[in-house]
Amino acid sequence: MPRPRKVKLIHGMPIPESRTIFKPSGLSMDNLSMNTLTIVEFEAIRLIDAEDKSQNEAAALMKISQPTISRILSSARKKVADALVNGKAIHIEGGDYKFVSKIFTCPACKSQFPADDTAMPQKCPKCNSTGILASNDAV
Ligand SMILES: [Zn+2]
Repeated sequence: MPRPRKVKLIHGMPIPESRTIFKPSGLSMDNLSMNTLTIVEFEAIRLIDAEDKSQNEAAALMKISQPTISRILSSARKKVADALVNGKAIHIEGGDYKFVSKIFTCPACKSQFPADDTAMPQKCPKCNSTGILASNDAV
């Protein structure tokens, strides 16, 4: 029997799906190669490089081992560096993950936003509508 894959817990809300491609401006996607960063790799960069957490802290938050996050981080940095240096696009998608914080959706304006696991937001931060729905369940 195959061993179950480890689930990496994602604490941050990745940028909205429609905005997950970064590319050099002025060039069409047809002329660009693209590196795909998994959402797990994105989370490793977010926690360690953007939030200055140690690899041990980030590993604990994502419930994976330090050697695993070290491997994920090095792969993520390589892809980002390659894109910057060689003028490639970066697409953030996929990977084996599960959200920790709740994601809420506003049916009125279709925007999605995270909130901490304790409380359902009273109104949409964008359009102030009150019919907020939970899009996923907290772990
Ligand atoms: Zn709204």
